[in-house]
Amino acid sequence: MSIFGNNIFGNKAAGSIPAVGNADRPEAEKQKSDAEWRQELTPEEYHVLREAGTERPFTGEYWDTHTAGVYQCRACGAELFTSNEKFDSHCGWPSFWAPLAEGTVRYIHDRTLGMERVEVRCANCDSHLGHVFDGEGYGTPTDQRYCINSVSLRLVPREVEEDSATAS
Ligand SMILES: [Zn+2]
Repeated sequence: MSIFGNNIFGNKAAGSIPAVGNADRPEAEKQKSDAEWRQELTPEEYHVLREAGTERPFTGEYWDTHTAGVYQCRACGAELFTSNEKFDSHCGWPSFWAPLAEGTVRYIHDRTLGMERVEVRCANCDSHLGHVFDGEGYGTPTDQRYCINSVSLRLVPREVEEDSATAS
């Protein structure tokens, strides 16, 4: 008998990577396997989103971005933050004083690295986003700082549409 009988090694002819399309894929983000995540994400994205890594400060795409728009989860596309709540914390990572809405992110007590922190994850796909700190004295409505990795986000710039009154 062999534990390899059924086998994970026999499948090496999987030459063609299926095109990534939304067509046949209903919402199934939570069931994605590790292998699927590795295939879909770049190594850096995988490290941060799926292994709770942290990008180096002042290196990410969005730490100093002021473009109006919505920040989606890089892994699953869920809308997580908006430019309205983004502020200049000068910490080297994109910082928000609140998520887009209650329930878009979830929180996990994180005691790694000898610190007491609150990890922030995407509520939809459970990918790591960053951490939230509060009471630091930033002059924002909540005095919270959602310190989020750029690589966990994708900014969708707001279309310049009807920014004046809609007549009817
Ligand atoms: Zn997500």
